[in-house]
Amino acid sequence: MPTGPGKEKKLIIVSAPSGAGKTTIVRHLLSCNLGLAFSVSATTRAIRPGEVDGKDYFFISEEGFKSRIKKGDLLEWEEVYKGTFYGTLRSEVERNMKKGFHVIFDVDVVGGINIKNAFGERAFSVFVSPPSVSDLEIRLNKRHTDSEETIRKRMEKAKWEMEFADKFDFILVNDDLEKAKAEVLAKVKEFLKN
Ligand code: ADP
Ligand code: 5GP
Repeated sequence: MPTGPGKEKKLIIVSAPSGAGKTTIVRHLLSCNLGLAFSVSATTRAIRPGEVDGKDYFFISEEGFKSRIKKGDLLEWEEVYKGTFYGTLRSEVERNMKKGFHVIFDVDVVGGINIKNAFGERAFSVFVSPPSVSDLEIRLNKRHTDSEETIRKRMEKAKWEMEFADKFDFILVNDDLEKAKAEVLAKVKEFLKN
């Protein structure tokens, strides 16, 4: 359900190294009737089994992505992994806010910091931290969605990303999932209330 018109719409940013549990946390928040809508990003990566174009991402070619950059369609974008681009579409944010929703983002750590800097107090940024970096590797292996090479690249990046945690409004340690869900829900509710 969208929230009523009038009040300024807000942004909830969820960032983390891959495998820390961002998607799980974002899905949970979306299911809690907070008036949130997901910002569907554009990406050049291959679609994974179970993903839906236009729902999980807009899957586009590198050429299409670069032309979107040129046209100024992207609020922020990153070459998150070498040769793989991801970006937030301005149109997604505007469309959802016009419909009366607050917008929630699942973006990498640098993208999260950039969106927070652009929106300041209107945005609440959450860094999802794994209990340890080795837990990340275990989770990515168990998820069975990425090749060994992809997991290796993601682990390299994760170690660097962990250093940015203190740039976020809130660090959520995702060890016990149920506890993490309750904690983040309380924080987001508090932010949306004000
Ligand atoms: P991300 O979006 O950050 O890459 P996901 O939400 O896909 O991470 O989580 C990575 C994997 O870890 C998934 O298989 C998910 O079910 C699992 N997972 C998430 N949170 C926990 C947790 N607290 N304990 C154990 N496994 C978890
Ligand atoms: P995945 O390929 O696992 O879906 O996502 C890989 C990484 O890209 C994740 O950290 C995810 O949050 C990030 N990502 C997804 N969309 C965007 C986006 O629009 N901008 C940025 N900067 N990162 C994104």
